[in-house]
Amino acid sequence: MTDTLFAKIIRREIPADIVYEDEAVLAFRDINPQAPVHVLFVPKTPIATLNDLTDADSLSVGKLVLAATRYAKAQGLAENGYRCVMNCNRDGGQTVFHLHLHLLGGRVMQWPPG
Ligand code: IMP
Repeated sequence: MTDTLFAKIIRREIPADIVYEDEAVLAFRDINPQAPVHVLFVPKTPIATLNDLTDADSLSVGKLVLAATRYAKAQGLAENGYRCVMNCNRDGGQTVFHLHLHLLGGRVMQWPPG
């Protein structure tokens, strides 16, 4: 996998507004927020897309989702709700090829998404 913007953020080579970190996950605010809360949860293990996941990544992905849901609860988003999105490849709208989960909240979401 080639080096990505998010790998550089994980290595602190590029600044980011980091809101959460543990041994497996880094989370930072999206630079172009689409909701009052828009945070990207990134596994520290470099995985390009959802297509590249294997059984070996189960724990890492589980930690990613749990980190996002815990953060959402801590931000008071749980009761009204929020959205988690993972885009995959061109048609899915993926632009950064290091797996990431978008946590969006603080407004009413529309369906279907664009
Ligand atoms: P994707 O389109 O699902 O791959 O999401 C990539 C996201 O990364 C987009 O929502 C961008 O706004 C966001 N992004 C791009 N560069 C940066 C950055 O330097 N810091 C934080 N977020 C970024």
